[in-house]
Order: sequence, then structure tokens, then C-alpha cells
Amino acid sequence: MSALSELYEEIALCRQCEIAKFRTNTVPGEGAEDAEILFIGEAPGWHEDQQGRPFVGPAGQLLDQLLASSSLRREQVYIANVIKCRPTGNRDPLPAEIQNCRNWLERQIELICPKIIVTLGRYSMAMFFPGKSISKIHGTAQKRDNIIYYAMYHPAAALHQRNLRQVIEADMLKIPSLLAEVKDITQIETQPEQLKMFEV
Ligand code: URA
Repeated sequence: MSALSELYEEIALCRQCEIAKFRTNTVPGEGAEDAEILFIGEAPGWHEDQQGRPFVGPAGQLLDQLLASSSLRREQVYIANVIKCRPTGNRDPLPAEIQNCRNWLERQIELICPKIIVTLGRYSMAMFFPGKSISKIHGTAQKRDNIIYYAMYHPAAALHQRNLRQVIEADMLKIPSLLAEVKDITQIETQPEQLKMFEV
């Protein structure tokens, strides 16, 4: 069993938050264990809770379309959430729930070792870009500790606000070139300041 599968088993036993009582399944995340790109959403919704898989409802369908438009396949990336259980009544995650789940996400990041972490929405952004505003930093990237952090709107936002659709599409389209740029830089062992896309 892989270290990530062992982690999923630990997550399935977690009862730190009240919402654990109401879940059908934990939703640890899924994708390539050696993915170069890790997408981090907010929290499972009803569909995700039913299936134990991230982004399988309407927001997930849009995420799949966005990935395809950038020639990325879902199986080649990894998709996780800030919290692993569905908040009751689809409310926003509570600070205590985010704090309790933080360790799971940190261990996923350590095991996957992604080159790029894409934050989807403000809860995920707040973990990696504290104090920033999504409307200012979406589509921009920052390198820290050998990982590129890239902020995007949450796909659900584009479902509710049609004008965001083009913005989120344009931001997703930048990811392949960002990855190519990171790989080039790794190969020639130059310094991170040389990355062109760091605008934060
Ligand atoms: N929204 C999220 O943030 N995550 C999911 O898994 C589904 C919808």
C-alpha cells in the first residue's frame, strides 16, 4: 500500500470535528501520486461526500473542462481540498475545521511533492497567500521553498458569476507554460527570481 493510501485510511478514521458525525465518506483527494500540479479546493459538497471523491459535482465538471482546455488530464494532476469532510448544509468551513485538517493537507503535499500548487478559491488561497485578495492575485504565482503557488478563483464562482468564466479559463491556460518554465529553470539550475510569472 502506498504512503498516500495509508494516509487515506488515517483520514477515514478522523473524528476531530463535529461534522465527522454527518459525513457519508471522507474525501481525502485523488490523482497521480507523483503529480507535478496539485489543485486545492475548499471542501467536499454533497456529490463529493456521496462518492468520497473531490470535485465530482457541477464545479468538478467545470474543473474537468478547464483542465482539458489546458491539455491537462485529471489523472495526471492531484486534486485535494482544504478540509476532508462536507460541512453540514454546505456552509463555509470553520476556522477550527481548517486547523484540524491542516495536518492532512501538509502530509499530502510532502508525499506528492508537487512543483505547482494551484489554490482554488479564497479558503485555499488564504492558507498560502495570507492577507491577499483573490481579485488582486488570481492568475499570479509566487515561489517559496521550491514550490510555485498559483492562485485561481474557485470553479463554483464561475458557475454563479458568468463574467468570471473567461477569467478562470485564462488563468488555467497559463498553467502549462508556468510548469514548462519551472522545469526549464530546474534543469538549468538558475535562480527562482528568473521566473517571469511571479507577480504577487
Ligand atoms: N468544491 C470544492 O471546493 N471541493 C470539492 O471537492 C467540490 C466542490
